Amino acid sequence: MTPIEQIFDILQAKGGADYGSERVTQLQHALQSAALAEAAGAPSALVAAALLHDFGHMIHDLGRNPAARGLDDRHEVRGRDWLGQWFAEDVTGPVRLHVDAKRYLCAVDPGYFGTLSPASVRSLELQGGPFPADLAKSFIGLPHAAAAVELRRWDDCAKESGRPTPDLPHFRRHLEASLRPA
Ligand code: FE
Repeated sequence: MTPIEQIFDILQAKGGADYGSERVTQLQHALQSAALAEAAGAPSALVAAALLHDFGHMIHDLGRNPAARGLDDRHEVRGRDWLGQWFAEDVTGPVRLHVDAKRYLCAVDPGYFGTLSPASVRSLELQGGPFPADLAKSFIGLPHAAAAVELRRWDDCAKESGRPTPDLPHFRRHLEASLRPA
């Protein structure tokens, strides 16, 4: 099986599950995120990152909705590690940093916290809460942090029940373009 077939298999097998307490499934959330990235003209690696940013939720065995039980599944690290088998840092960097990007935006954008869904507010607590000013400053200096902040904005807008998107195969070309040369 090719890497992309494996990824599509997992998204199709596990992506039908709820996305925590959000109103969309994991797969709908992934597709909406990727569609927003594509519509914004993001490079293929960032469209791929948008599609796969929550992949870490689909490859653990902590059971359904660990956040509801007070558990942080560290999905951004799981996702980065797993995807790092095939993708370079232009994909895995934004995936790794999309949780910290939420902590960053809470620190620097006064209106941001109020836009978060209840599930996202709950996970923010488990993830350490808003960054203090010094951590926000060092975060945004990291490689791929700016891309992670862009991804975060699409992520937060990708929770709308019933919004039509292209299907999974539509995004294959972005994944193919982003694979690390063997
Ligand atoms: Fe997400």
